[in-house]
Amino acid sequence: MNLLTDDFISTTQGKISLKTLLTSDTNYQLQYAFDEIELAMLQMLSSLSTVVLKPSLDELIDYITNGLTADKYEQLLNKTELQWFEDNCFMRSAFPKGEKPADAPITKMLSGIECGTSADASGLFSDTSSAEIICSDCSHVLNYNLHMNIKGECFGPTGATGIRGGGAVSTLIAGKDLKTTILSNTIAIDFFDLYRDVGQTNNECMWQEHHAMTGDIYYAHKIGLPRGLFALAYHISFPVLDKTCICDVCGQSSSNSIKEFKRLKYKGSYGSTKNGRDGGAKWWPHPFTPTTQKDGEVFPVCARDQHWQSWQNFTAYVLQQETDKATSIPAFIVSQYQELNKKLKEGHANILIGGNVAVKGTIKGRLYDLYSMPSHWDKDLERVTKVIDSGLQVKDKLSQALNKIFGVGYDKNFVGGIKNTAINQYTSNAQQIIQQLLLDVDRKEARVLRKEALLALKNAAKSIYQEIMRKYQNDLPLFKALVKGEKILLAVEKIKS
Ligand SMILES: [Zn+2]
Repeated sequence: MNLLTDDFISTTQGKISLKTLLTSDTNYQLQYAFDEIELAMLQMLSSLSTVVLKPSLDELIDYITNGLTADKYEQLLNKTELQWFEDNCFMRSAFPKGEKPADAPITKMLSGIECGTSADASGLFSDTSSAEIICSDCSHVLNYNLHMNIKGECFGPTGATGIRGGGAVSTLIAGKDLKTTILSNTIAIDFFDLYRDVGQTNNECMWQEHHAMTGDIYYAHKIGLPRGLFALAYHISFPVLDKTCICDVCGQSSSNSIKEFKRLKYKGSYGSTKNGRDGGAKWWPHPFTPTTQKDGEVFPVCARDQHWQSWQNFTAYVLQQETDKATSIPAFIVSQYQELNKKLKEGHANILIGGNVAVKGTIKGRLYDLYSMPSHWDKDLERVTKVIDSGLQVKDKLSQALNKIFGVGYDKNFVGGIKNTAINQYTSNAQQIIQQLLLDVDRKEARVLRKEALLALKNAAKSIYQEIMRKYQNDLPLFKALVKGEKILLAVEKIKS
């Protein structure tokens, strides 16, 4: 099987190839049992598409607008070194002689299931029996996901941290159908070069080399685009059994099956780790990763805890923002789309935020949130940012109001617990309110959206607060403090719409 020519992508209409996906007019839908794998598939397919198309910004605009013919795909394929995308070598470098790899059941490749040996890696939120056997086609996306999206700590001492740092949030462009989505997340070579502004880089994929990745520090400035898009952190293999199965990941029947994998971590460090940063590796600008810059260092944005909701950071995913502490920088793919959007006639696209919520070695949750965006990003982005801003302002007032209960003299953990529960509830309710409101982003002016957002969010905060007041009405000291706090909360009415 070759990932650039053969059918391995699971859709509701059976398995298709990258060529079919990019060149046919059928509106295919991906079919994977876990949204995490669907997200990894979008990342991997866009990266594969980059390797084949190697488009300039203008060519990319042409493909998105007028489509890509099968002939053109074949022509471009002729200029690609196909052999490195065969299933026996893609993202799989050979094990060094004399070192013994670790074995693990395939279950461990899905986050939220895997349990490392460290004390922190014990969280389960998916059933282990839901991924015990897979088809060989799906081993590629699981491998890609391991390298790009799973934290090394999840594997304890045998875990490695990949080029994105593991556990980083991804922002992707969501087009009107799967084909447009993959094309919109394909990287324009000229625009990326302009963005990076570095000299000669190594463009070979890491599994092309006989002695893959020796050395302690993997310097970002030496890593070219294809190399970085599929950067490795493990030597890996998936023993294939000559036995039929129904794949637990894609649901399709297969003539072969895989139940376990072997891995051995690379010893050097990328700029995504402390070791790498200390050694001067620097951050490699992974195109799907929003980052923050602090004291000259770059860090990928990660989901903070299981109560964190993506809306709170959304503005930073689409606009560069500076605070006194740090600068947040949108992912390259978002900047690229802003550029494309200026020239596309029918440029409407939304943003998909995805990733794992990783706390130390444990994956506590997953993110998979779709945000509606205005048709004209350059002039109408305010419609989105004003809605997000309303959510944050109301949250701030709710927090200030609840701070009053710290003055009662009760145990800090007790009152802190009341406050945290309330804030978590608000951020979770606000996530739905905001995503829902943004569905109207093209039909309503910024002013109207802001007004509607404020109204809905204020009501959400007030009803949470009233619930707490009801609960503690017989606890006089606490109740009095809540009454004082209520005045602060009611000041949400004065927030300008
Ligand atoms: Zn499968």
